[in-house]
Amino acid sequence: MSEQIYDCIIVGAGPAGLGAALYSARDRFKTLILEKFYPGGQIATTDRIENYPAFDNISGPDLIEKMTNQVTAFGAEIKGGAEVTSLRKLDDGNIKIMCDEDSYTARVVILASGSSYRKLGAPGEEEFRNAGAGVSYCGTCDAPFFKGRKVVAVGGGNTAIEETLHLAKFAAEVTMVHRRQEFRAARILTEELTAKVNEPDSNLKLKLDSVVTAIEGEGKVQSVKIKNVKTDAVADFACDGVFIFIGMEPNTGFLKDFVELSEHGFIKCDCAYLRTAVPGVFVAGDCRVGAAMQLVTAVADGVNAAMWMKQYFRDPTWWNEAVSDILQPGGW
Ligand SMILES: Cc1cc2nc3c(=O)[nH]c(=O)nc-3n(C[C@H](O)[C@H](O)[C@H](O)COP(=O)(O)OP(=O)(O)OC[C@H]3O[C@@H](n4cnc5c(N)ncnc54)[C@H](O)[C@@H]3O)c2cc1C
Repeated sequence: MSEQIYDCIIVGAGPAGLGAALYSARDRFKTLILEKFYPGGQIATTDRIENYPAFDNISGPDLIEKMTNQVTAFGAEIKGGAEVTSLRKLDDGNIKIMCDEDSYTARVVILASGSSYRKLGAPGEEEFRNAGAGVSYCGTCDAPFFKGRKVVAVGGGNTAIEETLHLAKFAAEVTMVHRRQEFRAARILTEELTAKVNEPDSNLKLKLDSVVTAIEGEGKVQSVKIKNVKTDAVADFACDGVFIFIGMEPNTGFLKDFVELSEHGFIKCDCAYLRTAVPGVFVAGDCRVGAAMQLVTAVADGVNAAMWMKQYFRDPTWWNEAVSDILQPGGW
């Protein structure tokens, strides 16, 4: 019996993959999501989301359960425990997707394998990992939970500065710990940071040439150990939370020989239609260049990719066409 061909196979059942599956399945396309672990992605690890439209406050697992039920009700299949290890374009234009034990064929693939926050590797980081306990990797998501409290922010790049300035709007005191004396971030951001630090009675302070070596507390974060890398002196520093802004690592190692990746491993695409360098292969969510790294934008990416998939089905030569405002994917 010949292998069945899916219209759309999505790699990853995080918010981007589930957003794509909803639109693909509602359009009656034969849709399969291959997921390495179980549906949810990064958002499944948080117990409070306050910035997803229509929900004042919902936990990650509850939101994902709703999303999963919705996509399967429209006929999408989800296969958990299916890690995609490689992909190959076939002569007939379809795409072969290899997992450890099985392989699948699809007319279109949407890559939605997400990213992971880079870890500090300090003792206590895993134990207190969620905003309720005090360790967070996303100021945009979790700053309001630290209103009036004292927090430490670790990092020195563009995102670290932007997120730390955002935190300072909520927390009573933010101490930014950076391992060097100079910032490598964009000058405009560094200037903004310096201006804020130098304001009279500023709630934003810097500890330069310093690293956080441990996160400590009973049930929740109560202090960190900060080491000065020049003197090796280590001191306890009392705080209610630690924000770690030291970068993201895209889950794209398995795609190295298949699609074009950026210097830091994100999948290159045109940001209007989310087309990669390989015809029929779209990308969505945190694994692509230019991703906003938010739940709502990941879902929206998935939806966009599934919408533009129809244009590819209509006219495969469209893949090489420039971005145009004549086209609209249409339908709802
Ligand atoms: C603790 C925490 C709290 C957060 N809170 C918020 C918040 O409040 N608001 C907000 O907007 N954002 C928040 N975020 C960010 C948000 O979760 C992400 O932006 C969003 O999950 C990205 O979705 P995604 O589908 O692109 O990727 P991911 O969520 O990373 O999902 C990717 C999926 O692909 C799977 N996968 C990876 N490789 C393979 C492979 N080879 N084969 C098969 N499957 C694979 C993974 O297992 C994963 O399930 C938070 C993130 C974290 C970690």
